[in-house]
Amino acid sequence: MNAQNSDNHERTIGAIYKRLKSVLSQSDARYVLSKRARISANELITQSDALIEDSIYSQIESDLEQVVSGKPLSRIYGEREFWGLNFKLSDATLDPRQDTETLIEAVLARFEDKTKPYKILDLGTGSGCILLSLLSELPNASGIGVDIAPEAVKTAQENAQNLGLENRSSFICGSWDAANRQEEAERFDILVSNPPYISNQVIPNLDENVQKYDPILALDGGDDGMDAYKTIFIQLPEILKKGGYGFFEIGFDQEDSMTRLSKESRFSLMGVHRDSSQLARVVEIFFE
Ligand code: GLN
Repeated sequence: MNAQNSDNHERTIGAIYKRLKSVLSQSDARYVLSKRARISANELITQSDALIEDSIYSQIESDLEQVVSGKPLSRIYGEREFWGLNFKLSDATLDPRQDTETLIEAVLARFEDKTKPYKILDLGTGSGCILLSLLSELPNASGIGVDIAPEAVKTAQENAQNLGLENRSSFICGSWDAANRQEEAERFDILVSNPPYISNQVIPNLDENVQKYDPILALDGGDDGMDAYKTIFIQLPEILKKGGYGFFEIGFDQEDSMTRLSKESRFSLMGVHRDSSQLARVVEIFFE
């Protein structure tokens, strides 16, 4: 085989798929080929000997280099699947975690009548993934997402548009109290929040990818990681309707401090929901 042929051999779909699989999971390897070369899972088998175009080959090479250097695919392509929906990401948004789907499940389990026009507030909305996933399940609900980062608000608006949910959602740039500061402030049936909750002392020990690619504003919860929750709890009587529920994502070690905060407040602690690793992940409260 001459040099040209051996080079060509490396550029077949089958060979590239194999290389991708040596550093990525099988499904991520398929994802790269479908993103860059629009190759379907079936074509991976039927077209395995076909050559990939030079420009696409170079793109995949560059993706591979980035993957090897530790960059997550979600940051390379600027998107992440959450609750079966596709969300665009930006530098100002947290990369949605699968654990956060526990929060969606907790809300849906509580609100059995899916047809009611619930009003939802999402504090620290980021990509909008929590609010928009809920709106996709509750066809008459509407909601507001608040984020301190203007770029996150833009990304969330874009995601609402892409998902056809722009008529039932709006996004405000501001602090935790931005929704109740609105001129025609309304109260909500459902408050959801995945605020920054990592203690600032722990941040230097986080996974390198998290430190490098997730925005610090979405992670840093102050000295004990509780700053955002404490601020939100003070606002709660102005946010929730009587009879409304709040759902907060928490860190694996925050069950005690969050149940304490709930018990000290005027709200009833309804329960703590566990994620698929059986870690405490969501605290649910009720405003009687
Ligand atoms: N769950 C995220 C992590 O583990 C943290 C998100 C947050 O602080 N809200 O990195």
